[in-house]
Amino acid sequence: FNSYRGLIAGIDTKIPLINGAYTTAINFDNAATTPPFLAVLEEIMNFSPWYASIHRGAGYKSQCSSTLYEEARSIIGNFVGADPNKQEVIFLKNTTEAINKLSNRLVNLYPDAVILSTCMEHHSNDLPWRNKYTVDYINIDKEGKLSLRDLEEKLQHYQGRVKLVAVTGASNVTGYMNPVHKIAAMAHGYGAEILVDGAQLVPHASVDMLSPKNPGHIDYLVFSSHKMYAPFGTGVLIGPKKVFQQGAPDCPGGGTVEFVTHDYVKWLSPPLKEEAGTPNVMGVVATMAAIKVLKEIGMNHIEAYERQLTDYTLTHLERIPNIQLFNYHQDNHPKVSIIPFNIEGMSHDMVASILSHEAGIAVRNGCFCAQPYVQRLLKVPKEEVQRIMEDDTLPHLGVVRISYGLYNTYQEVDALLRILREIAENRSYYKEKYNKILDFG
Ligand code: PMP
Repeated sequence: FNSYRGLIAGIDTKIPLINGAYTTAINFDNAATTPPFLAVLEEIMNFSPWYASIHRGAGYKSQCSSTLYEEARSIIGNFVGADPNKQEVIFLKNTTEAINKLSNRLVNLYPDAVILSTCMEHHSNDLPWRNKYTVDYINIDKEGKLSLRDLEEKLQHYQGRVKLVAVTGASNVTGYMNPVHKIAAMAHGYGAEILVDGAQLVPHASVDMLSPKNPGHIDYLVFSSHKMYAPFGTGVLIGPKKVFQQGAPDCPGGGTVEFVTHDYVKWLSPPLKEEAGTPNVMGVVATMAAIKVLKEIGMNHIEAYERQLTDYTLTHLERIPNIQLFNYHQDNHPKVSIIPFNIEGMSHDMVASILSHEAGIAVRNGCFCAQPYVQRLLKVPKEEVQRIMEDDTLPHLGVVRISYGLYNTYQEVDALLRILREIAENRSYYKEKYNKILDFG
């Protein structure tokens, strides 16, 4: 029994299986996106009588919408422990856009900077830093966890040139959580700031940017609403006011200016200066509604429940023959509810298809926009990576990823374990069947 199931929209959707029967869809792809809370959809409906374009309307509805949009900044900032006096909450499209904005905005401030990314990042916290800065990558150990020793060595090596450590709060491949406050303290010790990619962290654990209990505060945090039970299209960037007060915005346009002539521009103060164009007020209302539900449940409860579900799955997966796991279970390293695996001798895309066709279970497979990390986890030799780079055919590298949300149940996990055991014990049968059906090479 899971009391959170009733909170989710579309939870009982029936989908067809390969044998023609219908089953209730099981969603184990929450790291990609989570279904919305019913309360979020209700709040959008409740808000619709007041819906209006904000900031520049004198009409009553526009005033109401504008007030709500502005109030959202403190509610959302407060949810992750941001400092309202020193930090700005900026609404954007998603995490990717937020990191790109930061990368564009810091370039004038730190033209010769070294940015330390890590070997476990999503492409969105790696590619935006390339070409504008000198980028180096903090190494991982053989299990795929971040090496703090390497961080220390790199901070020392660059002798004050590192201005930002851009690190994920939790990996979208292994779920490993990074000790962000410890990393922050280390970075601050060398005069650098820290950006936490919170896309996988904020929906699954409590985040406290400025907690006095923690050794180092978080300078920048980014996350996406569509991974925390609100719809697509809203992302959040939180960072020091002083950074956004300086210089021109990277994306100028309507809504960013106070006064303009053909040869003069006076920018508005942040955050408005950083939010060009008509803002996504519905998305912000939805994000607030999602946060309200998450707070009512309590992030500590969510974290504990999802951890139990993950541990339960790992314990049982370890007992199934031919299953290869990529995140370590025994050492109690903190992780969010993500489990990457392969079935030996079967391709990741075939396993994902079988789960969908035979049991109505949605997972994701491939490299999850973290190709360098997955290459390392799969121990792909350097020569092979080189060969792939020179070859025109796309590589078939990848793993299968299970990722839980707070509404998933033990019964759903048991259904997954049953079908995985069935596949793993009858690989030849399933390979033959699905090679024919799906034309796998
Ligand atoms: N970082 C991480 C760790 C992610 O998991 C994702 C989404 N897969 C992103 C960044 C990018 O998020 P978005 O697609 O919402 O921009």
